[in-house]
Amino acid sequence: MHTIDMELVEMTLDVMKYVLGRISSTSPELGQPKKAEELKKLVGETITDKGIGGEKAFNLFKEVLMKATVPIDHPRHLAFVPASPTRASIMFDLVTSASSIHGAYWMEGAGGIFCENEAMKWLVSLTGLPKNAFGVFTSGGTAANLSAMVAAREQWRKKTENQNRKGLIITSVGAHSSIKAMAKVMDVDVHLVDTEDLMTADFLDQKIHSLAIDDRKRLFAVVATGGTTNAGIIDDLLGIADICGEHNLWFHVDAAYGGGALAADSVRHLFNGIERADSITIDPHKWLFSPYDCGAVIYKDPEQAKKAHSQQGSYLEIFKDEGAHGFNPSDYQIQLTRRVRGLPLWFSLAMHGTDRYKAAVERGLELAILAGHMIGKNPVLELVREPSLSCVLFRRKGWSPDDYRNWTYKNHREGLALVTPTKWKQGKNHETVSRFCFINPDTTEDDIRVILDSMM
Ligand SMILES: *Cc1c(COP(=O)(O)O)cnc(C)c1O
Repeated sequence: MHTIDMELVEMTLDVMKYVLGRISSTSPELGQPKKAEELKKLVGETITDKGIGGEKAFNLFKEVLMKATVPIDHPRHLAFVPASPTRASIMFDLVTSASSIHGAYWMEGAGGIFCENEAMKWLVSLTGLPKNAFGVFTSGGTAANLSAMVAAREQWRKKTENQNRKGLIITSVGAHSSIKAMAKVMDVDVHLVDTEDLMTADFLDQKIHSLAIDDRKRLFAVVATGGTTNAGIIDDLLGIADICGEHNLWFHVDAAYGGGALAADSVRHLFNGIERADSITIDPHKWLFSPYDCGAVIYKDPEQAKKAHSQQGSYLEIFKDEGAHGFNPSDYQIQLTRRVRGLPLWFSLAMHGTDRYKAAVERGLELAILAGHMIGKNPVLELVREPSLSCVLFRRKGWSPDDYRNWTYKNHREGLALVTPTKWKQGKNHETVSRFCFINPDTTEDDIRVILDSMM
C-alpha cells in the first residue's frame, strides 16, 4: 500500500494545494445543507467495485459536497460554539494522521503522547489545580464529562453501602445537554437546580436539602458549569466547592466552552474555585483553536480516574509493566485506541507561544463587549443580559420566534452569516432571542455591524 507511484504524488499535491487554499482563506463560502437524495443525484455512485478514482472523488468532494457544509471557522459564523483552528494546528493534524501513532499506550505512542502531555501541562496550569493533577485529551466535552462522572461514581461505589445504589448528580438548567445524555448512558439520575443564570451556593444547598433521605444517599457529584454554552455564565465555583466539601461530593466543572477563557487575565477571576474541582472538562476544539475533534478531561487525582478506566485484558498486560516506560492515556478516559488528538494543539502552542493564545481569547471577549455596545446603541435592539464571556444574548424588539427563524435562514441562504436563535429562560418564561458566540479572532467589528444591520 505504501509504494509511491505518480498518481499518489499528484493526489498528494492536489490535496496539499486544496489545504493551503482552504487555510489561507479567511472567508470561505458559507455552504448550505441539501437533502441526501439531492446530493446523491449530484454525485452519483461513489462506492463501486473498481473505484471511481481519486481525482473524480476529490472533485466531487470539492465541487459538490464541501459546498453542502458550513465552514465553522467562517468569521460570520457566530452560531452554537464556533471554532477557529490555527493554521499551524490544521497542518499538524495532517502530520498527526500521516504519522500513524497509536495514542492509547506509551509503549507505542511515547513521542506523540509526550507532546500531548506538554500541552496538557499548560492546560492544567491554567486551572490552578494542585501539583498531581493531570489529564488526557478526549474526543470532546461529551466524552470528557462521561469519563469524569464515571470516575466520580467509581470512587463513591468504593463504599459497600453504595455498591447497589443508583447514583444521583445535581447540576443546573444551564448545564450542557451532554450532562443529561451521559447520565443516561451511566443510568444515573439528574436533579436540576432550576436556574439558567448562575448556580449559587445557596441554590445548590437548598437543592441538596430538599432531597428525600434516600436520594441524599444516592447523591455523589455536583456538575457546575464554567461558561454555559447558551449564555457564557460561570457558576459560583468557590461557593459550590465549599458545599461539595461539606457533603463529601465530587465536584466536576464543565468548562468545555469556557475553559479557553482561563487563559485570559481579564476574566480569570470569574473562575475562582475551579482549582478545588475534582475534575474539569475543557474543549480545545472550542476556544483553544484546535481542529476537530479535541476535548480534555483533567483530574485532581488521576489515580482515582485510573481505577475507573484502566482496561484489563491478556493482550494489554505488556503495556502496563515497567518496560513500557510510562503514561497510558487510555487509563484515564473511556476510549482505548485513540488518535493523539492533542498533538495539533501541542505544535501550535510550541510554534506560537502561549501569549498568542491569551491574546486570541481576549479578542473573543472584546468582540462580545463591542457587540454589546453596538446593540445597546441601536433603538430596535436590546441586550437580554450583559455579555458573558464571549456570548451575547439580545432581542430584536417586536420579533416573534418565526421572525428570528426566517432571518437566520435568509442570512444563511444569502451566504451572509450563520447566527441562530436560542431561548432564554427567566422564571417560567422561555423567550426566543438572538445569540452571538465569538471564538474567531478574525471576526471584525464590520462583520458584527453587517449582521446587526440585516435585522433592521
Ligand atoms: C460543547 C459543550 C459540551 C459538549 O462537548 P462536545 O465537544 O460537543 O462533545 C459539553 N459541555 C459544554 C459546557 C459545552 O459547551
